[in-house]
Amino acid sequence: MATAVTPVSEVCDLLVIGSGAGGLSAAVTAAHLGLEVVVVEKEAQFGGTTAWSGGWMWVPRNPLAAEAGIKEDLNAPLTYLRHELGAQFDEARARTYLEHAPRMVDFFRRRTALQFIDGNAIPDFHGNTPGATLGGRSVCAAPFDARALGRRVHDLKPPLHETTLWGMGIAAGAELKHFLNALHRPASLAHVCKWVARYWIDLAIHRRGMRLVNGNALVGALAHSALEQGVDIRVQHPALQLLRDGNRVTGAVVASPQGRLQIQARCGVVLATGGFPHDATRKQQLLPHAGATGLEHWSAAGWGNTGDGLRLGESAGGTVATDLPQAAALAPVSLVPRADGSVAHFPHLIERGKPGLIAVNRQGRRFTNEANSYHDFTQDLLKTTPAAESPTAWLLCDHAFIRCYGLGAVKPAPLPLRRWLANGYLQRGNTLAELAQACSIDPAGLQATVARYNAQAATGQDADFAKGETPYNRMQGDAARAQAAGLPNPCMAPLQSGPFYAIKVVVGSLGTFAGLKVNPHAQVLNPQGQPIAGLYAVGNDMTSMMGGNYPSGGITLGPAMTFAYLAAHHAAGVDAGASPLRN
Ligand SMILES: Cc1cc2nc3c(=O)[nH]c(=O)nc-3n(C[C@H](O)[C@H](O)[C@H](O)COP(=O)(O)OP(=O)(O)OC[C@H]3O[C@@H](n4cnc5c(N)ncnc54)[C@H](O)[C@@H]3O)c2cc1C
Repeated sequence: MATAVTPVSEVCDLLVIGSGAGGLSAAVTAAHLGLEVVVVEKEAQFGGTTAWSGGWMWVPRNPLAAEAGIKEDLNAPLTYLRHELGAQFDEARARTYLEHAPRMVDFFRRRTALQFIDGNAIPDFHGNTPGATLGGRSVCAAPFDARALGRRVHDLKPPLHETTLWGMGIAAGAELKHFLNALHRPASLAHVCKWVARYWIDLAIHRRGMRLVNGNALVGALAHSALEQGVDIRVQHPALQLLRDGNRVTGAVVASPQGRLQIQARCGVVLATGGFPHDATRKQQLLPHAGATGLEHWSAAGWGNTGDGLRLGESAGGTVATDLPQAAALAPVSLVPRADGSVAHFPHLIERGKPGLIAVNRQGRRFTNEANSYHDFTQDLLKTTPAAESPTAWLLCDHAFIRCYGLGAVKPAPLPLRRWLANGYLQRGNTLAELAQACSIDPAGLQATVARYNAQAATGQDADFAKGETPYNRMQGDAARAQAAGLPNPCMAPLQSGPFYAIKVVVGSLGTFAGLKVNPHAQVLNPQGQPIAGLYAVGNDMTSMMGGNYPSGGITLGPAMTFAYLAAHHAAGVDAGASPLRN
């Protein structure tokens, strides 16, 4: 007869479930406030989607901007949010965010290994909205030397392979520009050779790149800071169930390679499992385009994010928001076949605004301003797709474009195209008609669209979708190349000589917006709006403070880290407004 095994019991102050930006920021802050912290991570490596991300955070009035002389009143970003969020604007929550986000950056910068680079030239997505800025509201994790992690470096999730060069991360901004210019500018080539040489040496010595950039640097620096403060980070430890004493959450049952254990947490439990991008049931409920199976939403988020935090929160009386205008941070995604038979989900974040690319539907027609944000692009795809069809589009360009910028997972020259043509990821046609046939696009529609687009590119006026008219569009473009070609619009160039190329994109996301309802301390709320003692939700387990809107880049990581910082203060019984961490 089977006998029930009593799980081993352990005690800590704060139990954090999930090891992305939300979880690790809560852990580092709590440890600095003197709490004994355990982080449990379900996957074999820590970092979650954060480790694959760009590492950008939207933090208006951040210290790096202030030091560069960009000073603005809290009312400017507040106005922007009020107009962008509309009916979902929650002033108390927005003010809490705008007050504490710069303090969060200041804390990590002064007291931890996490350093930042500025985004002082990065505009908000919607330049025509009142309160929008031309720059100064973003920061990104600075490159981090992974050698600081010692042997734990092998527990750090590497970047998403398809977004790298042979596994080597490339930082956004100046670094990416050097890679794109390597064949034309000796100075860029020198930089690229230096980074690539260092990467190969790292591979030989450490079996992975040690110069971390983007989201990988963010996780590396946070994990190092956590470990330094004595935080116990355990991989392969999925949380299964919350422990409760009456209405208070007191810990969780966790699986481990050695068996189940109960981890009691004196000050509370933080849910930070990254939302529901791979939870078919909830996707079917909250994302109409995901279809009856919930599977027609190809998120680029980490595979471990299967909605566990939301279910755990609900089991303790929490509620998930179901009334957002959009329940996910949408992005066009292409499906990349891998040699091992698996399929990677590649989010198209960078190349859509470059001059010489258009996006078309099955009829061969453009349906959006390609240089708009990934979220807006995908919303337009959804809006313009007839109900009976599944939303699909093609990103299309000519030979000169693909060799200059690449397309999706396909890298620019001198890397060969052969593999991508052979596995069907990339379609090619010597003429537009041939390409249309390969993609099952209407050939006449496509030819008419390209003829019209080419004429518009020559004048620089996109009479159909106003491409290139906002500062964000122009930043996504390539002013230098457009200028060299005598073209007035940095986002528009004619698609001239074949062969032509296309990649199919479908609807996916960078993560989800709908999560557990919380108060400004990130405490999970019950249906009556009362906080559930001992239970916090951060990152994408918390309903986005943007209310299902996407006003700017970095609006998931900035709030993830800030509300984690606030949750840790609350759990430690410390007033964040008078935090000792600010001294
Ligand atoms: C390519 C790409 C680029 C992006 N760039 C940016 C950007 O620059 N700026 C920005 O703001 N956003 C960006 N995003 C979105 C951003 O990365 C995510 O919104 C963010 O990382 C979510 O953080 P998180 O802490 O909520 O979850 P995650 O970082 O996904 O971490 C959640 C972790 O919880 C673990 N977990 C799940 N269930 C359990 C369980 N039961 N027990 C224990 N652990 C569990 C998961 O395995 C995972 O490791 C990008 C996304 C992608 C895909």
